[in-house]
Amino acid sequence: RDTVFDTLQDRLAATFKTLRGKGRLSDADIDATCREIRIALLEADVALAVVKDFVAAVKERARGAELSGALNPAQQVIKIVNDELIGILGGETRVLRFAKRPPTVIMLAGLQGSGKTTLAGKLALWLKEQGHSPLLVAADLQRPNAVTQLQVVGQRAGVHVFAPEPGNGVGDPIRVARDSVSEAQHKLYDVVIVDTAGRLGVDSELMQQAADIRDAVNPDEVLFVVDAMIGQDAVNTARAFAAGVGYDGVVLTKLDGDARGGAALSIARVTGRPIMFASNGEQLKDFDVFHPDRMASRILG
Ligand code: GDP
Repeated sequence: RDTVFDTLQDRLAATFKTLRGKGRLSDADIDATCREIRIALLEADVALAVVKDFVAAVKERARGAELSGALNPAQQVIKIVNDELIGILGGETRVLRFAKRPPTVIMLAGLQGSGKTTLAGKLALWLKEQGHSPLLVAADLQRPNAVTQLQVVGQRAGVHVFAPEPGNGVGDPIRVARDSVSEAQHKLYDVVIVDTAGRLGVDSELMQQAADIRDAVNPDEVLFVVDAMIGQDAVNTARAFAAGVGYDGVVLTKLDGDARGGAALSIARVTGRPIMFASNGEQLKDFDVFHPDRMASRILG
């Protein structure tokens, strides 16, 4: 279950409760409600700039709203908040783009511990279940354990892992990534998922390596993987990776975590990149396509 937004859900529910039964909303009612929404978003750790725009939009629309027969004032405000939430979450669901000529190359980037390797396995299994033939690629050669970890994940998913030969000392991740694409062409894998190295913090060497891998494999999709529980750092890291590597979409992980992950809700708006997938547990099945409208409904209970 996605517990990371529970605080926000509770606070918004409490706010809307005060509107219930009101016949018509005065400007003062709307102002008071918007103040509550603002506090709810800030407490949930949504980025300040995003909160400001969000509340301003809700206020403007709520004041301009004509009372229609179908919705009472409370429902009308909830609908406006719902629409705006869908907006900051990216609007439409963004589906994975496949290359016209296989293999489709998907590159994963993000900090160490963000859940990249786990995500690689989840994505591979998900693709396999849709009839694809994915190949996992161990291009994270920084951590001694990373290759083994990907192999374990690959085994669980029943997906082959392309990795440097053991005993070759420190491998070259750029070469591994490049070779994996030829391997996929020869052995008819139609999707290549490249797991790259992440450090504990953003550093320029890491960014350069990721950028070099990107240039070597020319990915169809670069996905930035981010732990929703790291709070405002999620937004800062998202910005740093956008500048250093660039990416097409975001994957939010650990949505099953502590209930203060609102910063992650700011990422699509702050970076202009859609959230494409979400991960909410350690098992391979704890993964799905991210639907902004469904997430908004869930947050609004
Ligand atoms: P990497 O360093 O980016 O490759 O991250 P890992 O895939 O090794 O994940 C780091 C830790 O987070 C591991 O203990 C994973 O089991 C855990 N993890 C990954 N995704 C999730 C998730 O969605 N929810 C939870 N609760 N844990 C996760």
